[in-house]
Amino acid sequence: MNFLDFLFPRFCMHCHRSMPSIHDGFICNMCAKELVLSDGGCCQRCGRPMLPEAAENLICPDCLEVNPSFQRGITLFSYKGIGRELIHLLKYRNGQFLKLNLRALFNQLTSRLSAFKGGTFIPVPLHYFRHWQRGFNQSEWIADLLSQHCQGKVKNMLVRRRYTRSQTHLTREERKANVSNVFSLKKRDVCKPHEHYILVDDVFTTGATLNACASALQRGGAQRISIFALAHG
Ligand SMILES: [Zn+2]
Ligand SMILES: [Zn+2]
Repeated sequence: MNFLDFLFPRFCMHCHRSMPSIHDGFICNMCAKELVLSDGGCCQRCGRPMLPEAAENLICPDCLEVNPSFQRGITLFSYKGIGRELIHLLKYRNGQFLKLNLRALFNQLTSRLSAFKGGTFIPVPLHYFRHWQRGFNQSEWIADLLSQHCQGKVKNMLVRRRYTRSQTHLTREERKANVSNVFSLKKRDVCKPHEHYILVDDVFTTGATLNACASALQRGGAQRISIFALAHG
């Protein structure tokens, strides 16, 4: 046990067992193993887990129907159980302390993330009022962490022009209407046709928000657009 571990003993945020080392983050290894990782076959457009075994060129029924403005998507785990708890810690309890756990996850899924190497990562923006209320934008620091892993850069290119209702209790159609024409490029920003833009959010639910952001980039001239969300659910 090192000196810091002695001074600041840590407990797993999920099972509350004591953690052996400061280097393990705040979710213990046993709990981290309970995450349902999207490491089998996933929809290549939105990242939705589909088959237990890896398979190429899968497209889910939603993407076939919607034909979203992004071409590729990656999500890392299911939004249930500990996955859900991770997102809640991150969003409502300023969970930047989960950095170590997320880095470990990125390392574990590094071959999947190699598709984003050298890309430009764009966090889904919060409305300035909600940003002020919460004090931070969780998508922004996921984008920071991911860009470091993928040797890319972060650009805050989008603005949210309207304050929107929380999407949590809305149907698919209501979500779509709720975010239509909400996002636009910042005044001085233009998209380069050859640059790979990766939109970053915490959770992919129906994809309405990410798709609205992708449309805004497309209107600004972007041609290579992907999306990333930690969880799919
Ligand atoms: Zn635990
Ligand atoms: Zn899909």
